[in-house]
Amino acid sequence: MRCFALGLGLAVLAFAAPAGAQQPPSATSVAVNPQPPPAAAPLSAEQLRTVERLRSAALESDLAWRIVEDLITEVGPRLAGSEAEARARDWAVGMLREQRFSNIRIEPFTIPYWDALREDAHIVGATPQPMVIAALGGSPSTPRGGLEAEVVRFPDMAALEAAPDSAVAGRIVFIDERMQRTQDGSGYGAAVAKRGRCAPVAQAKGAVACLIRSVGTDPHRFAHQGGSSRQSQGASLPSAALSPADADQLARRVARAPTRVHLNIEADMREDAPSGNVIAEVRGRERPDEIVLLAAHLDSWDMGQGAIDDGAGVAIVTAAAKLIRDLPRRPRRTIRILLAGAEENGVHGGAAYAREHADEPHIVGAESDFGAGRIWRLRTRFAEHALPYGRAIQQQLAPLGVIPGDNAAGGGADIGAMRQAGMPVVDLSQDGLDYFDYHHTPDDTLDKIDPAALAQNVAAYAVFAYLVADSDWVFTAPAQ
Ligand SMILES: [Zn+2]
Repeated sequence: MRCFALGLGLAVLAFAAPAGAQQPPSATSVAVNPQPPPAAAPLSAEQLRTVERLRSAALESDLAWRIVEDLITEVGPRLAGSEAEARARDWAVGMLREQRFSNIRIEPFTIPYWDALREDAHIVGATPQPMVIAALGGSPSTPRGGLEAEVVRFPDMAALEAAPDSAVAGRIVFIDERMQRTQDGSGYGAAVAKRGRCAPVAQAKGAVACLIRSVGTDPHRFAHQGGSSRQSQGASLPSAALSPADADQLARRVARAPTRVHLNIEADMREDAPSGNVIAEVRGRERPDEIVLLAAHLDSWDMGQGAIDDGAGVAIVTAAAKLIRDLPRRPRRTIRILLAGAEENGVHGGAAYAREHADEPHIVGAESDFGAGRIWRLRTRFAEHALPYGRAIQQQLAPLGVIPGDNAAGGGADIGAMRQAGMPVVDLSQDGLDYFDYHHTPDDTLDKIDPAALAQNVAAYAVFAYLVADSDWVFTAPAQ
């Protein structure tokens, strides 16, 4: 996921989302963990028939699979601001036209570009050892030819923060914190803090570089890419993630004797690189100005193919909207697809979308950016008066194996700015037990997507989006 000020906060919200923490001012009107659940609002006979039709059509359709397969095959990895990301936007416009959506457009913006041209590290001395690393997004280059310094290891960020400057100055800081594997991805929120925070904290104490144990759960000898802290905190320390095996090795070496590491990063950094959001709609039949927002992001890191992050999300939200587009009677409100650009290096697409569209009435938003595992839970973030309709949606998702969640949904990074502007959100929570084995690695490839699970995602998104778009419920709290 993401890195800079906005991104880091959102990442924590999206994955850790402690109920009640960091909520907007209207939080007092949001019921958390309502007990007992409210009675479900009634649905019309037509809505019930339509939901049944959407569920079975989604489970029988391979459209989402064809979309993600085509994106991976035709475009592949698509680093934010790169020529490949521009090709992905063109691909998306062509694909959305083919599916006959309305109001298809690219909304351009510019971003600070970053790419690693070189990323090498090794332990130096009498018994040198190679190490596998990935430079962190936003990391500056080391001095030409690299830098060399003694390593100081910390078990977590708190230990670095507590350390005296004298223990850190002139050294390479190594944060050796592990990530917990969880179904809902909540281990990520805790583990990712070091990716954004190491450089600014270490730099303030006089360090020369940061190494972190990769933010991931796999045993493979590769490192996980991810953004660090370039713009948000003014840090300019070269930073990289170590593969799990190399983090283990470095920890053993440091425990035995003073250990020096040579680190060489060459980064291509430019201002004002082109990026953009791709938008398409299914126009509502009665209230076309009212928007149900379905988001995913088009960019990816570039060691893998960007299949689960976030080609899957692009395919899920598009295929769900397409099923609704093909209904004999469209829902009352507009369904808008947002395929955001430049999420990975700073959630620039989500910010650009909010700048352009925050004043339009957004009824509810959802984002698919957690791979392609089956959806197992629906969480809402609705005003209390709207909880009966949330309950009705949950009941219609039950045949897909989706259980009711609480009313403390986090949304996602790309819709985070809209959520902060007052848009209600839901989380269609995916099973993410293995997501961080692949996330931001060379293993983020098409074969990691299970077509049946992908279709179940489409079914859940289609049912949810149809039911909110065909209602006249308002999910926000009334103005105080
Ligand atoms: Zn993502």
